Amino acid sequence: MRKLVMSLCVATGALVSGCDTTARSADATEAPSVIGAAAVNTERLLNADSEPGSWLSAARTYDEQRFSPLDQINDTNVKALGLSWYADIDTERGQESTPIIVDGVMYLTTAWSMVKAYDIYTRAKLWEYDPDVTKNKAADACCDVVNRGVAAWNGKIYLGTLDGRLVALDGKTGKVIWDKQTTDINLPYTITGVPRIVKGKVIIGNGGAEYRVRGYVTAYDSETGEQLWRWYTVPGDPSKPYEQPELAEAAKTWKGDFYWQIGGGGTVWDGMAYDADLDTIYVGTGNGNPWNQAIRSPGGGDNLYLSSIVALDPNTGKYKWHYQTTPGETWDYTATQPIMLADLNYPEGKRRVVMQAPKNGFFYVLDAKDGKLLSAEKFAPLTWASHVDMATGRPVEYPEARYEITGKPVIIKPGALGMHNWHPMAFSQDTGLVYIPVQIAAASYAGPKEFKLNLQGTNTGTDFSGGAALCAAPGAQCGNLETYILAWDPVKAKEVWRIKNDIYGSTGILATSGNLIFSGNHKGEFNAYNATTGEKLWTAPTQARVVAAPSTYMVDGRQEVAILVGARGLPEGQIRTNAYSANNSRLLVFRAGGAAALPTAMPAVDPARLGVTIDPPLLTASNETVFAGEQAYAANCALCHGPNAVPGAGSIAPDLRYSGLLPIRNGWNPTVRDGDRAQRGMPAFGATLPVETTDAILAYVIKRANDEKAEQEAAVKKAAN
Ligand code: CA
Repeated sequence: MRKLVMSLCVATGALVSGCDTTARSADATEAPSVIGAAAVNTERLLNADSEPGSWLSAARTYDEQRFSPLDQINDTNVKALGLSWYADIDTERGQESTPIIVDGVMYLTTAWSMVKAYDIYTRAKLWEYDPDVTKNKAADACCDVVNRGVAAWNGKIYLGTLDGRLVALDGKTGKVIWDKQTTDINLPYTITGVPRIVKGKVIIGNGGAEYRVRGYVTAYDSETGEQLWRWYTVPGDPSKPYEQPELAEAAKTWKGDFYWQIGGGGTVWDGMAYDADLDTIYVGTGNGNPWNQAIRSPGGGDNLYLSSIVALDPNTGKYKWHYQTTPGETWDYTATQPIMLADLNYPEGKRRVVMQAPKNGFFYVLDAKDGKLLSAEKFAPLTWASHVDMATGRPVEYPEARYEITGKPVIIKPGALGMHNWHPMAFSQDTGLVYIPVQIAAASYAGPKEFKLNLQGTNTGTDFSGGAALCAAPGAQCGNLETYILAWDPVKAKEVWRIKNDIYGSTGILATSGNLIFSGNHKGEFNAYNATTGEKLWTAPTQARVVAAPSTYMVDGRQEVAILVGARGLPEGQIRTNAYSANNSRLLVFRAGGAAALPTAMPAVDPARLGVTIDPPLLTASNETVFAGEQAYAANCALCHGPNAVPGAGSIAPDLRYSGLLPIRNGWNPTVRDGDRAQRGMPAFGATLPVETTDAILAYVIKRANDEKAEQEAAVKKAAN
């Protein structure tokens, strides 16, 4: 039995948690007998609805609907919700994980694949784990050093690390039980996704398709870490036997002999779901490597199994069926986005379906049993295809979208970040609606003047500045346009309503039986909306951008909602208030009557004492801009300033990461473009590079400076321990 009287203000190691003074109920009916038991098994996962006070896996159930049956907080009383407590997070990179709540403990991951465990009763941090990922690994992560969460099983907590390890920790102590490298450490593989556990098998994929890797998904024994099966998403070296029989079929859809030498892509970096009745695990696969199909597979072909939803037998890894969303993909249109299962009520009866809203902008509903396409409608105004032909299941493309064939740059929607990315969507079993964080962006695609394999960075096979003239034309729409929460009827395959965000940026979503959806935004708010109408019912400040999805659970008979906040940059006008995180990364926990408050000032910290010598501005540019800057840097700057913005022994020019011009675009461009420092040996690049390109180089150098800062901070932290 838990003791019921506990301090409400708890110092959690070096970091102080905030707290409120609300009285807590003495009813501890859901209190577990062993805190931190992490005693998750198949029965508990299949019967998750019988313990709605827990949140046993990242998306709560095997269906991955992110729908909670809890309704104590509902559309009539949500206004009473207040901050109950918070905990500072000690990194300033993106925070993407959904906390899980198992046997009295909340487990979450932060940037750099670190895990933290909090007692939900005392709010004390029980333990934390840092896998000590080498900070240079950031160079292999397209989209920040993020992690989307842990899995619990049989006393253990599992996570994938940015450097490709699968780690099992003791749920009570955080001690490492086993630690297994799942990738070739010499290749730019990363892991940011959540492990899934089916009948004692831990299933994990990886990322890196922009670089030069071959995608696969692997199952490991939960107790020993022994590899049980591996399924490759694309064919490998044709001189060797196919690892799986279906790869012989897949190989017929590829051309040339370049793709397998650089991996081909197709990484399984996020979406998965499991159906116990069909005993099938569904995994989403990523884009081709490089993106440009004319380089990857000259002459075309579908390039199986890129950009597909694939059904596998979780016991053996054997292929069951697949549906390819974007045959011959050439725009970074992954189908790794969240996958969910549901029983949909069609007029002709109930049907068990797989649903996905991948990057390409179509909402797919497939029969869970055989993969039959039931519907594929545009959930956003995409411009690369007119529709999906229901007879063939294939998109009907606009020919001009294939820049690699026409040889002409083109602006299309969506760009590489997609109409929907990794940000979790939710499905309410009460309203029958799917809530999708939609992002509308247009981008120009163009083939490169010349393709050279880059062993140190991305290989997209596109020229990000090739469409600059198109984007500069009057009336052209390029870049980030808008984001909104879309309420989508998956049976009728149409929009019901949308909630527009004031500030561009996507955020994960939770739906509850309280007729509510919860979601943060990039303005610095955490909000609750009426799940039926979309009406905004409640808001709380987060002091940080929010990208992650929340979870909800019960403590002492009271419902709480937890959200991890913090992403690139701070909301406009927000000052830093977390001494350990420049983007105010925190865990925030809300309950009815919660009366805690976030700090209003930055605690005093002496940077010299911290031992960090670099102080770059926050990176606010998009990933696409950073990619473009990386390419342009390699072509124009690396010879003098060093590869990857790090001067080597032979470099003749200064370390740009420490440049005082980084925060001053109006100083950067005159120097880089106009020859303001020509007398000191810095030539003017204005004649050869458009301003978009020198801006992108600035963004890339800022990213590299932040990588260095993270490295220094980690070293300081390590020295202090
Ligand atoms: Ca990609």
